[in-house]
Amino acid sequence: KVRVRFAPSPTGPLHIGGIRTALFNYLFAKHHNGDFILRIEDTDQNRYVEGAEQYIIEALEWCGIPYDEGPGKEGGLGPYRQSERKHLYKEYADELISKGKAYYAFDTTEELDRHRKEHETKGKTFIYNWHNRLKLNNSLSLSTTETKAKLHAGDNFVIRFLTPQNQQLHLKDLIRGDIEIDTNILDDKVLYKSDGMPTYHLANIVDDHLMQITHVIRGEEWLPSLALHQLLYDAFEWETPQFAHLPLIMKPTGKGKLSKRDGEKMGFPVFPLSWNDSQGYREAGYFPEAVINFLALLGWNPGTEQELFSLEELVSQFSLDRVNKSGARFDPDKTKWYNHQYLQQQDEGKLAEQYTYELGKIADSKQFLFDPDEERVKRIVPLIKERATFVSDFWELSDYFFLAPETYEEKSVRKQWKEDTPEIMKDLIKVLEGIEDFSSENIETIVKAWINQMELSFGKVMPPLRLIVVGAMKGPHLFDILGILGKVESISRIKKAIS
Ligand code: GLU
Repeated sequence: KVRVRFAPSPTGPLHIGGIRTALFNYLFAKHHNGDFILRIEDTDQNRYVEGAEQYIIEALEWCGIPYDEGPGKEGGLGPYRQSERKHLYKEYADELISKGKAYYAFDTTEELDRHRKEHETKGKTFIYNWHNRLKLNNSLSLSTTETKAKLHAGDNFVIRFLTPQNQQLHLKDLIRGDIEIDTNILDDKVLYKSDGMPTYHLANIVDDHLMQITHVIRGEEWLPSLALHQLLYDAFEWETPQFAHLPLIMKPTGKGKLSKRDGEKMGFPVFPLSWNDSQGYREAGYFPEAVINFLALLGWNPGTEQELFSLEELVSQFSLDRVNKSGARFDPDKTKWYNHQYLQQQDEGKLAEQYTYELGKIADSKQFLFDPDEERVKRIVPLIKERATFVSDFWELSDYFFLAPETYEEKSVRKQWKEDTPEIMKDLIKVLEGIEDFSSENIETIVKAWINQMELSFGKVMPPLRLIVVGAMKGPHLFDILGILGKVESISRIKKAIS
C-alpha cells in the first residue's frame, strides 16, 4: 500500500512550496488509494515556533487535503511528532556504531572552525569526513578505550555517519531519473548529538522506515541529502523508499527562487493562512479550490490544455511522470485568474452571505439607503460577479445600489447630457410612476414601448439614465438595476439629477 508523508518542521508559516509539497503527496496517495501522513519534525528545539503545528494543520484543513494519520489521528505507527519519539533514535545511532557505520566525534566548535579557516586560506573547502580526519590526526584514531573514557568523562560528542570512500553511488529519483554521486565529496554528517537529540537525517530515515513510507515526495532543496539517505538505508539494510524531488518554485520573472520577501514586495500573499499579522491567501479572499488548482499546476502538467481541475479530477489525473524537472514559475496574475474562475462557480447564496457580512462592516461608516439584507444582496451578486476576482471587489462594483451617486462622471456628462435630457427624464418619471409591478422585465417592456411610441431614440434615454442611476457609464443591465432599487429610489435619483 502506498504511504507518503508531509514532514514539515514547525518553524513558522508555510511557504507555498510547503503546501505544494503537501498537495502533491496527498494527490499521489489518493490516486493510489494510499495513506497521507503528517509528521511533525520538531527535533531542532532552537527553531521551534509555538503554534506553528496548529497552523500547519489548519492550513491543510482549509485547503481540503486532510491527513489520514498524524497528530491527533493515531494510525498505529505514531506518535507523529519527533519530539515524542526522542527515545527511539539513540538505539538506531548505536546500531550504526556497532556495525562500524558511524563513530563518535569529540571535536569542539573551535577546532572545526580552525580547520575550516585553514582550508579556506588555501582556497579549499573543508569536507569533514573520516579520511580527512585521519590526516588531521584527530579523534577517529582514538582507540575504543579512549572513546569510552571520553564518553565516561561526559565530554560533548556527536555521532557521525562514516561515509564510505571511493564509491560511485547510483541514485534514483522518479522525477530526475538516475543521479551519480562520488562519495568522496560527501561530509560525514552528524546523526545524533549529546543533548539526546537526533539530527534531521537520522530521525527522518528512522521514521520513514518505521512508518512504512513507500514514497518520499519533497522539495528539490532536499536533493543534496539523497546520497546520505540512500547510504543510511543501505547501512541499516532497510528497503529504500522511492524518491521524488519536486522542482523549485521560481520568482514571477523566472529568475531565482521565490522567497517570502518576494511575496511581500509584490503585494501578493505567499502563505495560504495568516501567521500573526502576515496576510495569507485565506485572508486575501482566495477560495481553497483556486489555491489547490494553481498549486497543482506549479510543477505538474496534465499533458492537455485543461486548466481548471476539481480536487477529484486532480486525484484521478495526477502522476509523478508529469512533474517537470525544471523550476515552476509562480505567476500571481494566473493565481487571480483562478480565483476569478472559482468565484463564478461559487454558490450564489454563499457569496451573498459573505458580501452581506462585508456590507455590514462598510455600513458602519456610511449612511446606506436601506439595511443590506441578504435577499436584496442575493439579487445583486449574479449581476456583478462576472467582473469580480474576490468578494472584496463586490463593493466597488455595486456601491450605487446602497448609496445614491453624489457626483456624476464628468466626461460622460459632457457626452450624454443633452439640452432636452431634463424634459425627457421628467416624462420618464411619469412613466415609471405608472408602473405597478416594478420588476426588471416589466420596466423594460413599458419603457421600451414608451420610447417607441414617443419616437425617441434609445441613445437619448438609456445613457443619461444610467449616468443618473449609477453615476458613471458602468454596471449591469440598467433595468435590472432599477428593479432592485425599486420605484421610489429610482425616481428620486432622476429627480435629484434634473433639479
Ligand atoms: N523536515 C523537513 C522539512 O522541513 C522534511 C524534509 C523531507 O521531506 O525529508 O522540509
